Amino acid sequence: MARLVVLGGGVSGHTAATFAAKWLGSAHEVVVVTPNSKWNWIPSNIWVGVGEMSKEEVTFDLAPVYAKAGINYKQAKAVSINPEGVESSDKPFVTIEYTLAGREGEVENVEYDYLINATGPKLNFGATEGLGDANGLGEFTVSVCTADHAVHANEEFQKCIQKMKQGERQKFLIGTGHGMCTCQGAAFEYIFNIEHELKKAGVRDMADIKWISNESFLGDFGVGGLHMKSMGFAVSSKIFAESLFTERDVDWIIGAHVNKVEKGKVHYELLDGSMGEEEFDFSMLIPPFAGVGLKAYGKDGSDITDTVFAPNGFMKVDANYSAGSYENWSASDWPKTYQNPTYSNMFACGIAFAPPHPISKPMSSPNGTPISPTPPRTGMPSGIIGKAVAHSICDRILKGENAPLHEASMAHMGAACVASAGKGIFDGTAAAMTIYPVVPDFEKYPGTGRDTDYTFGEIGLAGHWIKHILHHLFIWKAKLKAGWTMIPE
Ligand SMILES: Cc1cc2nc3c(=O)[nH]c(=O)nc-3n(C[C@H](O)[C@H](O)[C@H](O)COP(=O)(O)OP(=O)(O)OC[C@H]3O[C@@H](n4cnc5c(N)ncnc54)[C@H](O)[C@@H]3O)c2cc1C
Repeated sequence: MARLVVLGGGVSGHTAATFAAKWLGSAHEVVVVTPNSKWNWIPSNIWVGVGEMSKEEVTFDLAPVYAKAGINYKQAKAVSINPEGVESSDKPFVTIEYTLAGREGEVENVEYDYLINATGPKLNFGATEGLGDANGLGEFTVSVCTADHAVHANEEFQKCIQKMKQGERQKFLIGTGHGMCTCQGAAFEYIFNIEHELKKAGVRDMADIKWISNESFLGDFGVGGLHMKSMGFAVSSKIFAESLFTERDVDWIIGAHVNKVEKGKVHYELLDGSMGEEEFDFSMLIPPFAGVGLKAYGKDGSDITDTVFAPNGFMKVDANYSAGSYENWSASDWPKTYQNPTYSNMFACGIAFAPPHPISKPMSSPNGTPISPTPPRTGMPSGIIGKAVAHSICDRILKGENAPLHEASMAHMGAACVASAGKGIFDGTAAAMTIYPVVPDFEKYPGTGRDTDYTFGEIGLAGHWIKHILHHLFIWKAKLKAGWTMIPE
C-alpha cells in the first residue's frame, strides 16, 4: 500500500486529493493535512465582503467530504519535511502540528511515499508596516482573502454606508498593499462590487472611490496585460480597464508600493521615485504572498530548506530558475510536471510552487524599490495543475515508478476568468475573460504573446450569471456530489 500525503486542502490540494482517492481506490492511502475545518470557495469571498453572501454560503465542513472519499483527514498544519527520513530510517516524513480542537499543538510525523505541497500562500501582511504583522491583518484596513476577513470587511463597509446615509462623505481605497503583490484581480472585483453596492444603497454620490496598485498600467493583472478579441480588434486590457474605471467614476493610482499604513492613511512610493499619501475611511489592500514557511531537513538533521524551497518560500519544481534578466525569459522556463528537482516523489501545485520569474515586466523605482506584480496562479490553473500532479503520482503508484509524468505548463494552458463587477440577477455585471496561454509565448505568438482567437473578453450581465453558476458548480464539485468529476477545474 502506498501513501500519498497532500499538504493543503484548498483549491489545488483538494482537487489533487479527491482525484487521487478516486483513482487509487482503497488499495492505497490518501492523507490530507490542512489546518482549517472548512473548505472555502475563495473567489466568492468578494460577495461576502459586501454582504451579498454569508460565510456559510462560501464554506463547508471538510470532514464529511473526506470521510465519503475515503481520505485520511488530519486537521493540522505541516511544519517541516524530512525527504530523506532520519539516520535510523530512510522513510520520508512530514512533521505536522494539529489545529483540531482538543488536539491543538500535538505533533506527529506522517510518513509518505509521495508528497504534494499545496499549501497556497502565506498572507504576508507583516511585509508592510501597519498593514499587519506576523499574526495577520492589522487594525487599519480590511481584507477579503479569507471568509472571516470578508465577514469583517462587510461589517466595516456597512458602517460606512450608515455614515453616508447620515450625510458623511466616505473615501474608499482598494488595491494592493505592497509593491510585490499579486492577486490584483481580487481587488479589481472588490472595488467594483463596492461601487455597485453603494449605488444600490443610494449613496454612490457620497463616496470617493480610488484604486491603488503596483501594476504599471491599469489592466496588467500580473500577466503583463492581455489583448482581447473584441469587435474584430485585439483590444488591450489597459483600454478595457481604463474605460471601466472612467465609466464607474473610479480614480486610480498605479505603479505604487504601499510602504506604510496608519489609521486612515497610506504612504506610498511610485515608480518614478516620488512619495505620496492617500487618506481613506475604508481600505481593502491585498497583502503580498509568500510560501507558508515550511522547513526541510536532511537525513542528518541539517537544514536543507534552501535546497527544497526558493527564497520566497515556495517549493522548487521543474522550472528554469536561472533564466536571468527579462530579455532572456522564455515560455519554456515555466514548469511542466511540478516535480521537485531534488526529490522525485515530491511535487508542488497551485500557489505553492515557485514560479521561475514574474509574467509582468519587472520594474523598480529609481530608489531601487521593486514595484511590479508577482505572477498570479489563479483558481483554474491551480486546479488543473493539482489534477495533473495527482494523475502523475497515481500512474507511478499503479503503473510503476517510471510511468511518464503528466504535464500542465501555464505556458501551454488557457484560463477563464470571470471577474465580478457587481452582484445582482438583473443588474449584476462581470468581466468574462479567457486568456491563452496564461504565460505569453512571444516566439509562438509574436506581437501580443497570446493567441487572439482564444483570448477575449466581454463585460455584462451574462458574465455575472456565469460567475454565479460557477460558484454553485465549484462548491458542488468540491463536495464530491453526483457528477463532480465531469465539472472542469
Ligand atoms: C479574494 C480572492 C478572490 C479570488 N478570486 C478568484 C477568481 O475569481 N478566480 C480565480 O481563478 N482565482 C481567484 N482567486 C485566486 C484563487 O483563490 C487561488 O488561485 C487559489 O485558491 C489557489 O489555490 P491553492 O490551492 O494554491 O491555495 P489555497 O486555495 O489558498 O489553499 C491552500 C491551502 O493550504 C492550507 N495551508 C496553509 N498552510 C498550511 C500548512 N502549513 N500545512 C498544511 N496546509 C496549509 C490553507 O489553509 C489552504 O487550505 C482569488 C483569491 C482571493 C484571495
